[in-house]
Amino acid sequence: MVNPLKVVIAGCSGRMGHALLEGVFADVELVLHSALDRADNIHLGRDAGEQFGRVSGVKVVSDIDVALKGADVLVDFTRPEASMTYLAACQKHQVKMIIGTTGFSVEEKQAIEAAAKNIAIVFAPNMSVGVTLLINLVEQAARVLNEGYDIEVVEMHHRHKVDAPSGTALRLGEAAAHGLGQDLKDCAVYAREGVTGEREAGKIGFATMRGGDVVGDHTVVLAGIGERVELTHKASSRATFALGALRAAKYLADKTSGLYDMRDVLGLR
Ligand code: NAD
Repeated sequence: MVNPLKVVIAGCSGRMGHALLEGVFADVELVLHSALDRADNIHLGRDAGEQFGRVSGVKVVSDIDVALKGADVLVDFTRPEASMTYLAACQKHQVKMIIGTTGFSVEEKQAIEAAAKNIAIVFAPNMSVGVTLLINLVEQAARVLNEGYDIEVVEMHHRHKVDAPSGTALRLGEAAAHGLGQDLKDCAVYAREGVTGEREAGKIGFATMRGGDVVGDHTVVLAGIGERVELTHKASSRATFALGALRAAKYLADKTSGLYDMRDVLGLR
């Protein structure tokens, strides 16, 4: 058997961090190398680890250099500012990266692209297999329904989510824009900016709902005269994102550099 991949979980005390720890412990091809979080929020991760009874000898730390030494891949579900710090450290230590964090600025996304010249990175706002398929279906639908159809992206998440629209909603909008032969930045309209008056043709609208413990619902509506197509994905557990992220980690095993997304991981390109 090949040596298990040595995985660092960043944001180990968070909601996704816990789902990732469970995923790593359940997979014989992976081993937890270290668990990383902010110095003031690391206890939860350690508690979770002890609960699983599998962390003896594993570093549960806030020091990035300590966490990365000797690791193969870092899985990051945190906040953009943390991801940027991890990006620099991963380049320094030649550790591959899975970036699941959302809410990056244009400049931060450019920094990820640049870093991928030095290390292999999978970057995807949604690591679920179902959403990855949905992205392909939306692009195809927009390509066919490219005249006389209005496209709206509607999403709902739990009350703690900080960015809006979700990274997945934006990715779905990008796929729709691509299907129409456009760039999303030229045709996106955000409901929370207050859109009034008649709907402009050719624009892609976004609507956001927040509440309760909703893990992640996304619907893309393509509405024409006399009919509409609705493509929907509903996540019922964070395990779907964690399993996708860990599958992505294994996909990078033989890669030394390059920027990939879940379509590469699932062989959908
Ligand atoms: P969370 O708030 O439960 O966890 C975030 C973790 O990051 C916390 O443990 C926190 O301590 C840590 N953190 C925050 N700022 C930090 C900093 N500056 N330095 C170090 N650590 C820091 O959030 P969550 O629900 O687990 O989501 C985390 C991120 O993952 C969000 O951006 C979310 O949108 C994204 N997400 C992506 C996917 C996907 O499939 N790509 C799925 C779910 C969530």
